[in-house]
Amino acid sequence: MKLIFLGPPGAGKGTLAAKAVEICKVPHISTGNIFRSAIAAGSPLGLKVKAILDSGKLVDDETTIGLVKERLAQADVEKGYILDGFPRTIPQAEALAEFSAVEKVLNFDIPDSGVLERLGGRRVCRKCGHNFHMIFDKPSKEGVCDHCGGEVYTRDDDRPEAVQKRLEVYRAQTAPLIDFYRKKGLLVDVDARPRVDEVTENFKKVLGL
Ligand code: AMP
Repeated sequence: MKLIFLGPPGAGKGTLAAKAVEICKVPHISTGNIFRSAIAAGSPLGLKVKAILDSGKLVDDETTIGLVKERLAQADVEKGYILDGFPRTIPQAEALAEFSAVEKVLNFDIPDSGVLERLGGRRVCRKCGHNFHMIFDKPSKEGVCDHCGGEVYTRDDDRPEAVQKRLEVYRAQTAPLIDFYRKKGLLVDVDARPRVDEVTENFKKVLGL
């Protein structure tokens, strides 16, 4: 199953993706996680994108498309994938269509108030990328990932200034993808407001699973 998870920052795409991986048995590919790992590793890509991520702006299309194209050429995505955070611009979506046939685009719908509530409490594992929330889903031991023992931290771009920027960027550059994929008949809306278990059930329903 070749799926795209579309929606504003904080819609819960990454959290649901962790569940969806178990359900669909395909890898979760998050461009944000790839960039954050590169930054943590201090690689040339990480050095190039760090300031961009911190500011809440988008990495350039050429770099991002190249990265995803390379990732989708690997053997583990033969049966499908969950693309989370890509595409984020129309040129990225057009490029993707040239190297992979997406089957469905799930549009996670949530108002700004929900985004702010989620991002305000979000914590992320530096090692495996797992998302926690300080109210809804706390790690058992503060600051330590339940899944891999990695450090759980607050993303720099979850600071209020960066969140505003990311929402602006989402509206200007990513939201046009909703129409783009609706016109292609690929878009399915998912109400992202409920807690993750309910969203997971909705996800299964819309995919007929
Ligand atoms: P995310 O974890 O999906 O919220 O992504 C975090 C940050 O990584 C974004 O704010 C961008 O700076 C960068 N990023 C992730 N995916 C993309 C993309 N498809 N195109 C450009 N920049 C991206």
